Amino acid sequence: MIRLQNIEKVYRTDTIETLALNSINLDVAKGEFLSIMGPSGCGKSTLLNIIGLLDAPSKGEIKISDQKTDHLNDKQLAQFRNKKLGFIFQSYHLINDLQVLDNVELPLLYRDSTAKERKQLATEALEKVGLANRIKHFPTQLSGGQRQRVAIARAIVGRPEIILADEPTGNLDSAMGNEIMDILINLNRNEGTTIIMVTHDENMAHKTHRLVRLFDGSQVQ
Ligand code: ADP
Ligand code: ADP
Repeated sequence: MIRLQNIEKVYRTDTIETLALNSINLDVAKGEFLSIMGPSGCGKSTLLNIIGLLDAPSKGEIKISDQKTDHLNDKQLAQFRNKKLGFIFQSYHLINDLQVLDNVELPLLYRDSTAKERKQLATEALEKVGLANRIKHFPTQLSGGQRQRVAIARAIVGRPEIILADEPTGNLDSAMGNEIMDILINLNRNEGTTIIMVTHDENMAHKTHRLVRLFDGSQVQ
């Protein structure tokens, strides 16, 4: 499903060069739930951004769904991301002055769909995360766990093959974190969605199929 070959990422400014990723090779199978751990600054977000086609590597090749991605222009990349990938962030990234339903509909605005279809798909996604009774609320009227569930609904509404989650439970207490983890585990099991999750939490990582550890830009496990 995902293949990274000899990925290297160097951040360059006028005076500093940082080797953020050093010859990373990684294969992720369809339907796999993979977690990535490592100390702060080891390259986790950089790796997730590269897999998510938000950032280009300095060297190496990425294939997603067996497709090479290096020849795509910005518009094609945006379309590819919108169709294949769903993103979940630690800090939710919801739009606070849009109601829950409108937040969840956002990814569908870039596709051919009618307002009625969008509403139906968004409602279904919110049902899957147990929030169908909050569609008219605004994000600020929800708890952290509920906001993250809205963010998951937004990530899955377009039925992506792959979900990329950057510390999805990082801002939540352990009860809410476990709820979010259960939703992701069910999504992976029931819909076969491939999930790659960055986490600082060993307990969460051990619930996934496989753990990759990074240290100083290199894969150590
Ligand atoms: P993590 O997510 O594991 O905390 P990051 O991927 O954010 O690590 O960062 C990896 C390394 O790359 C760090 O040393 C960080 O300082 C550096 N880095 C990240 N983003 C930039 C950037 N935009 N410019 C320069 N250096 C960066
Ligand atoms: P934190 O919560 O630790 O501030 P996030 O999990 O929100 O970090 O974001 C992780 C990474 O994803 C960051 O490198 C950020 O630049 C990137 N990012 C966040 N939101 C978006 C977005 N809407 N589109 C593209 N990249 C984003």
